[in-house]
Amino acid sequence: MREGGVRTVGRSGLRNLKVERRFHASQRWRMIMGKVERPSLESLVMDFAMSLTRRATCKRFQVGCVITSEDMTQIYGFGYNGTAKGLSHDDCKADQPGGCGCVHSEVNALIKVRVNDPKKVVFVTAQPCITCAKAIVNSGVSKVYYRATYRSDEGLDIIREVGVEVERV
Ligand SMILES: [Zn+2]
Ligand SMILES: [Zn+2]
Repeated sequence: MREGGVRTVGRSGLRNLKVERRFHASQRWRMIMGKVERPSLESLVMDFAMSLTRRATCKRFQVGCVITSEDMTQIYGFGYNGTAKGLSHDDCKADQPGGCGCVHSEVNALIKVRVNDPKKVVFVTAQPCITCAKAIVNSGVSKVYYRATYRSDEGLDIIREVGVEVERV
């Protein structure tokens, strides 16, 4: 949004900008005294999840999700939040908090996974909601990485409660 040349952002926009900044900071790598410093696989996959938010069609908050093998060397699926394939991208009911009607990124990623791996790793750019947390748990995961805090901790609490490790990256 632009008003008189000044970029205006809403609350979720500000949150996204913060996450963007961290994303760019994590991208830097340097060579010092012959030793190559490079990013961890965790941060690389999360960077990919961050880039997926650009495909989201939700007007409230844009989230990306990547699902990998336990060693993070295989990507099983990825997704972002938005409406159903084939519908207008203008479908998000942005004025209804928590009920905008968009399919969440985690669900969109999980439905793409074609392998039966009970130790999947989930990368999501914002804390999962309660429903997505339960879907993640039921799909069989060994670890969940998230980046931005969003709305409440209830989703993460469910994931921890069933014994799955959660880490912010
Ligand atoms: Zn939406
Ligand atoms: Zn959700």
